[in-house]
Amino acid sequence: MDLPDYAIEAKGLTKTYAATKTTPEMKALRGLDLAIPRGSIFGLLGPNGAGKSTFINILSGLCQKTSGTVTIWGRDIDKSPRDARAAIGVVPQEIAADPFFTPKEALEVAAGMYAVPKAERRSDELLAALGLADKSKAYVRQLSGGMKRRLMVAKAMVHNPPVLILDEPTAGVDVELRKQLWNYVLELNRKGVTIVLTTHYLEEAQELCDQIAIINRGQVVACEPTSTLLRRMDTRKVLVTPDEPLTAAPRLAGFDTSLLKSGGFAVSYRTGQSSVEQVLAAVRAAGLHIKDISTEDPDLEDVFVSLTYAAEKAEA
Ligand code: ADP
Repeated sequence: MDLPDYAIEAKGLTKTYAATKTTPEMKALRGLDLAIPRGSIFGLLGPNGAGKSTFINILSGLCQKTSGTVTIWGRDIDKSPRDARAAIGVVPQEIAADPFFTPKEALEVAAGMYAVPKAERRSDELLAALGLADKSKAYVRQLSGGMKRRLMVAKAMVHNPPVLILDEPTAGVDVELRKQLWNYVLELNRKGVTIVLTTHYLEEAQELCDQIAIINRGQVVACEPTSTLLRRMDTRKVLVTPDEPLTAAPRLAGFDTSLLKSGGFAVSYRTGQSSVEQVLAAVRAAGLHIKDISTEDPDLEDVFVSLTYAAEKAEA
């Protein structure tokens, strides 16, 4: 079979969780379109509740989609569910360790579930690659949290899938372990494995991913090479406290402004286009006296909001 252009492709994907006695109906995915290029390290970035886990759970078969299509490694999850699932390994958010197995046994059991023939199993190689070789005979319950997490990665790779998905891989993971984990992940990628990771940390995605899709409220609001996306995130804010508190945001030529609760106001500017100097000049030109100023870096939440807003405007 020819290799697919996209490791994963979703079109018009929706998921609505039915209402329960205590919760209303929830549209977690609302027409998600996404194409993850083969060979990439792809980041799925979005705030809590954006729908990232729902998407991953649909891929892994833990959750039924409501409508839309998904292919994994060119295989439709409705038409060839087994083949589609055999093409991915998923490292879940939660550590679900088998306390009474040794790491080696845990890997053998996982390989058995994927019907990997004994001769093709790579348990020892995986344990070594993830720095667990000397723990192969310990019980899993005796491993540290970091070791358990590495074991989860090894378990996801027992059937040698061409796509590895990591759901919030570094939540609660220390710096040293992160490095080890990334080294292994990068090594896999060099060997041709497509890596998909979800995170709500921009820095993490920025560091590792060559492409990033931003998901907000169940839709993709941006999907571009990391460098392009970062250039779009060059908005900064200057917070101005004027001599007298204001009741409305002042109009400044060339800048967006908003009123702060304190009676001060915020001025947004793009680092590529203007400077704090120019912002201050515009404030003075508007006849305002400055008592104090501070600056604020964009947080991801602002970026999500502005991208979502741009997407909604484009739709309208
Ligand atoms: P993320 O992983 O980006 O934080 P999720 O996919 O977990 O987002 O959640 C998307 C939305 O769907 C949230 O509003 C969440 O509360 C809701 N949701 C997730 N799982 C369920 C479920 N099993 N039943 C009902 N609602 C759910």
